[in-house]
Amino acid sequence: MFETSIAGSLPKPAWLAETNKLWPQWRSEGAALLQAKADATLLWIKAQEDAGLDIVSDGEQSRQHFVHGFLEQIEGIDFDHKVKMGIRNNRYDAMVPQVVSALRLKGRVHAFEAQLARAHTKKKLKFTLPGPMTIVDTVADRFYGDKVKMVFAFAELLNQEALALQADGVDIIQFDEPAFNVYMKDAADWGVKALERAAQGLTCTTAVHICYGYGIKANTDWKSTLGDEWRQYETVFPALAHSSIDQVSLECIHSHVPPDLMKLLAGKDVMVGVIDVASDVVETPEEVADTIGLALEFVPKERLFPCTNCGLAPMEREVALRKLQALAEGTRLAKERFSKD
Ligand code: ZN
Repeated sequence: MFETSIAGSLPKPAWLAETNKLWPQWRSEGAALLQAKADATLLWIKAQEDAGLDIVSDGEQSRQHFVHGFLEQIEGIDFDHKVKMGIRNNRYDAMVPQVVSALRLKGRVHAFEAQLARAHTKKKLKFTLPGPMTIVDTVADRFYGDKVKMVFAFAELLNQEALALQADGVDIIQFDEPAFNVYMKDAADWGVKALERAAQGLTCTTAVHICYGYGIKANTDWKSTLGDEWRQYETVFPALAHSSIDQVSLECIHSHVPPDLMKLLAGKDVMVGVIDVASDVVETPEEVADTIGLALEFVPKERLFPCTNCGLAPMEREVALRKLQALAEGTRLAKERFSKD
């Protein structure tokens, strides 16, 4: 009951990359960089195990950014000529690579860190990939001229890598789709179908993470415009409830998401955000347990998985570490409180 995990990313140590940044520069290159990525991955696996989490991940230590890490291994994408583009419905500008010809995987994308992580933990291993719709929102299209066509091209490539990750021994493959909260109607119309294409044929657990973004200023400013009730999930959850995806990761603590929207996910496992990533204040175990208690009004306890609201990448390492501990301690308290009812 209440198996704990993080949404995905963790801060990179200062010797691996720039800190407190969403698109950090690496500190080294070549073999030295590969070694540093491996060291950071093992460090965070140990930290997650020590904190007492049930499901661990590589903390995305081997990718610069959660979307572009995947794109670097795709033929048909020009990384040498990035262009400035407003992403997430123009919420903020990013330098994005361009799609210039038909897409094809050059080879494995995440074999190195997935196999390394698998070899060094006996815990359940979760691995994250960007969702197809979010990828489409984070590249400039100079070839397909049709969003839906391009989204399914990416979904096919994601599926190839996901099947290979499953063969590496990954237990849970999670697709990150923050774009589902921005383009709600498109998400319900074709975003979920593209997601299912990306997960086609997987027999491991499949998941999707939908959030209101990292704790960066552009996101907190955006959230302040969304009013008292954030109902974005209401459009896409029914489509997900009817989909083949097993688990849904959502924001809860300190958000304005009406918790009863979780009812729309009947039949799915729900990864409930009980740790805020937009604040450096570390949650108390009581606060975490209270949030789990609130979610229990709408999610059966065997389907509730305590999690973080989003990734912890741009945070201070020490704060992230203490948040992992708060997640585990708060969940222990929740088990004491709620296991008997
Ligand atoms: Zn997120």
